[in-house]
Amino acid sequence: MNTTTIGWIGLGNMGTPMAQRLLAAGYPVVVYNRSKEKEAALIATGASLPSDRQRPPALGASPTSAPTPASLIRAATIVVIMISDDQAIRDIFDGENGLLSAATSGKLIINMSTVSPAISKEFAARCQKQGNQYLDAPVSGSVKQAQEGQLVVMVGGNASAFEQATPVLRELGKLVIRIGDHGAGNTAKLAINLLLSFHAQGLAEATLFADAHGVRKQDFLEIFNNSAMANVFGKIKGDAILSENYKPAFALKHIAKDLRLARAEGWNTPLAATAYQTFQDAEPRYGELDIIAILKQIEK
Ligand code: NAP
Repeated sequence: MNTTTIGWIGLGNMGTPMAQRLLAAGYPVVVYNRSKEKEAALIATGASLPSDRQRPPALGASPTSAPTPASLIRAATIVVIMISDDQAIRDIFDGENGLLSAATSGKLIINMSTVSPAISKEFAARCQKQGNQYLDAPVSGSVKQAQEGQLVVMVGGNASAFEQATPVLRELGKLVIRIGDHGAGNTAKLAINLLLSFHAQGLAEATLFADAHGVRKQDFLEIFNNSAMANVFGKIKGDAILSENYKPAFALKHIAKDLRLARAEGWNTPLAATAYQTFQDAEPRYGELDIIAILKQIEK
């Protein structure tokens, strides 16, 4: 039984299965989500380990709910944040009853959201001023990997905070790696997501090319998934294309956001520029669907 109380902020597609992993590992968990119905759903479900048969499921107790981020940080030793974007981070730290308003010290705040390196540096400094530690720890992998504790976690921040965070992060990821100082995890994540956007757009374009020239989508995807270029992403998204299932595991609006973040870092190379434009154009219509709905944008 773990005794470190975790304060978990953000129960979206990723945050919910990640929080469930920590519950299943026996951590006491206090949750905060902006919209309360997601908290109620997690409290009703409790811990679960969908496809990990190594340990018994539902080891942990039900989580409890904190009414505000300030009350959550008071109750927790480690706070983990998994929310959308830079604005959401500002709201959680600086909003009414935000994390910083609690004026606590001695806490560790781990921000696993995909956000800019700049906002991590800013809040790392402001946390330190209060006597708290901050790590940026974004993840690679999607809902399935989150459920199975198979994420890749890339961390920015100081070594002592990393050491304290490692047992918690190991429950979530198959690889937990410290990249460098504050913001370095975010930079690594933007690099991975540049490549992810190229993969998604490339898979969509190649599938559409095959289909337009008389090669059935299922045949093309079977060839691809058995080729030297096969990868987990192609398998999952190939199945989604064939079943026309665009329910978001990773919402298109999030990759559009990540491409804006990479551009804000001054990156505008040929593929990055093309992917940036394609996903910005797609976001108004397909932002709430999965990333692979980029296929619908291209086939128009
Ligand atoms: P999601 O399902 O869209 O959930 C977003 C979460 O952020 C919700 O809990 C939402 O609260 C909260 N939120 C948004 N704006 C907020 C605000 N202003 N104040 C407070 N809370 C706010 O997103 P997700 O897919 O879980 O992704 C979360 C993060 O992980 C993103 O940065 C994303 O880029 C990254 N990521 C996602 C994946 C993936 O495959 N999905 C993979 C790797 C990384 P409400 O419920 O109230 O809206």
